[in-house]
Amino acid sequence: MTEQLIISARSVADVVEAVGRARREERRITVVGGGHGPWSHIPDEGMRIELSAIDDIEVDGTTVRVGGGATWGAVAARLAEEGLAISSGDTASVGVGGLTLGGGIGWMTRLWGLAVDQLVGAQVVTADGTVVEASATEHPDLFWALRGGGGNFGIVTRFDFAAHRLPAIVHGEYSGGDPATLLRRMRDVLRDAPHELTVTYMDVPPMDPSAPAGARLTAVWAGADESAMHEVLAPIGDTDGVQGTVTTPAYRDILMEPPQPEDPDQQPPGFIGGNGLYAELDDDLIDRLVAFRAAHPVSVVFLRSLGGAYGEVPQESTPFPARHATWFVMAGGFDIPGLVDDEARAAIEQDWSLIGQGRLAEYGNFAATERPEAVPGMFGDEAYARLRAVKAQWDPQNVFRRNHNIV
Ligand SMILES: Cc1cc2nc3c(=O)[nH]c(=O)nc-3n(C[C@H](O)[C@H](O)[C@H](O)COP(=O)(O)OP(=O)(O)OC[C@H]3O[C@@H](n4cnc5c(N)ncnc54)[C@H](O)[C@@H]3O)c2cc1C
Repeated sequence: MTEQLIISARSVADVVEAVGRARREERRITVVGGGHGPWSHIPDEGMRIELSAIDDIEVDGTTVRVGGGATWGAVAARLAEEGLAISSGDTASVGVGGLTLGGGIGWMTRLWGLAVDQLVGAQVVTADGTVVEASATEHPDLFWALRGGGGNFGIVTRFDFAAHRLPAIVHGEYSGGDPATLLRRMRDVLRDAPHELTVTYMDVPPMDPSAPAGARLTAVWAGADESAMHEVLAPIGDTDGVQGTVTTPAYRDILMEPPQPEDPDQQPPGFIGGNGLYAELDDDLIDRLVAFRAAHPVSVVFLRSLGGAYGEVPQESTPFPARHATWFVMAGGFDIPGLVDDEARAAIEQDWSLIGQGRLAEYGNFAATERPEAVPGMFGDEAYARLRAVKAQWDPQNVFRRNHNIV
C-alpha cells in the first residue's frame, strides 16, 4: 500500500486546496474531525484531511459558530462561560463534525432534540472545491441532508448552532438491584417523564474501561430542581438493592473522557452485535437484553431514552430515521482474541439478531464498521431516496465515500 498523504488543514482555503489535489491525484479522501469514527482508524492509501486545527468557537447571543474540527468538550467548556449549552453526546473528545452529521444523541435529547436539531447553518467545501453556505434558506436541500446524512455531501468547515440557556443540572447514578426490574421501572418512568429528564442504562463487564462493571442507570435533569428529579425517579430509587447518588455538576463536567490506550495506534477491539432505534422497550426486549448480558461474559448492553423533543421534530424535516422511537438500544460483545472464539462469536451474533429484529432503524454513528449493505437501513425509505438525489447533485463522483456511503 502506498503511504497516506496527511493534510492538517488550518483554514477553509487549505480544505479547498486539499480537495482539489485529492481529485487531481485521484486519492480517496478521509475526513477527520474528532477522530472517533471507523474511517479514522481504517488504514487507507488516499488523503487524510484532518480538521482539528479548524476549531474556533464563536458565541453571538445564542448563535454559536463552531469550526468543523472542534470537539464537544471544547464547545461545552466555552458555552459554560455564557450559561449556554448545546445537546451533543456524552464524551468530551468526540468531534462536532462526525456526531452532528450523523444525528447526535446526548444528555439533553429529550429537552432539545438531537445535536442536529439545533443546527441552523453550515459552511461546506463541496466535491468541486466550492465553498457554500447551507441553511433553511440557502441550499435547503443540502442543509437537510447534512442533518443526519453523514459526511457524504462535503467537508463542513463551520457549524452554526442555536444554543440554549442551561443554568444548572442534576445528575443521578443508580446501581445495584435486579437488572430486569431496573429496566422495567426505567421504561415505566420514562413513559410520562418531563422532557427535562434524559437517562442512559449501561451494563458492562469488568474489562470495559468505559464504566464501572454491572448495571447502572444515569439520569440527567435539566434544571436546578433536585427534588423534582427525586420525585420522578422515586420508583427507581426505591427499587430493592438499588443505591443512588445525586450531585449537581456543571453540564460541561458530565462529558466523559474514555481512558486513552497506551499505544495510540492500537486498534479498538472489534464489536459483534449492533444497535437500533425502537418504538417501545417491551418486556420481551428487556428479557432478551438481560439474558444476552448474562450469557456472554464480554458483552455490553447500553440504552438511551428518546421521546420528548426528539419525537416532536417532524420526520421529514431531517433524514434522521424513526422520530417515533422512544429508546436507543445497543448490545454486543467485544471481539477480544483469546477471550472470544468462533463458537462464542456465532452465539453473540445469533443472540444479537433476536434483539435487532424489532428495531425501526440502525443509528449509523454507533455502527462501528463499514457495511455498505446496511446503509439504507439507517434511514427511512423516503429519506434515503431524497439523500441519493442530494448526493447525485452535490457529489456525483462520490468524492466523499469514506463514510456510511450513499450512492
Ligand atoms: C467514546 C465514544 C463516545 C460516543 N458517544 C456518543 C454519544 O454520546 N452520542 C452519539 O450520538 N454518538 C456518540 N458516539 C458516536 C460518534 O457520534 C461517532 O463515532 C462520530 O462519527 C464521531 O465523530 P468524530 O468527528 O469524533 O469522528 P471522525 O472519525 O473524525 O468522523 C467520523 C466521520 O464523520 C465525517 N466527518 C467528521 N467531521 C466532518 C466534517 N467537519 N465535515 C464532513 N464530514 C465530517 C467523516 O465522514 C468521518 O469519517 C461516540 C463514539 C465514541 C467512540
